[in-house]
Amino acid sequence: MADIKIRCPKCDWQPMQYSRWQCSCKHLWNTFDTAGRCPQCSKIWKDTQCLECHCWNPHLDWYDGLDEAINKLKQEIKEAWELAG
Ligand SMILES: [Zn+2]
Ligand SMILES: [Zn+2]
Repeated sequence: MADIKIRCPKCDWQPMQYSRWQCSCKHLWNTFDTAGRCPQCSKIWKDTQCLECHCWNPHLDWYDGLDEAINKLKQEIKEAWELAG
């Protein structure tokens, strides 16, 4: 994961380890720890809201880095979403 950066596609804000998103079930967690999946109710958030500029962007658009590493990571996330869904 060394070559991969997570940042808001619009404003370039980078989430911290302690950044938290709230699910519709009220659970608070870091959505990038679980590739957008709520650990409590298993809802998958395919869009992620920026805590800085408040815009919504596709979860996968937050990942930035070398094409090869990024494509591999995105593929893994998509597969995990398909298995979950
Ligand atoms: Zn939830
Ligand atoms: Zn932003």
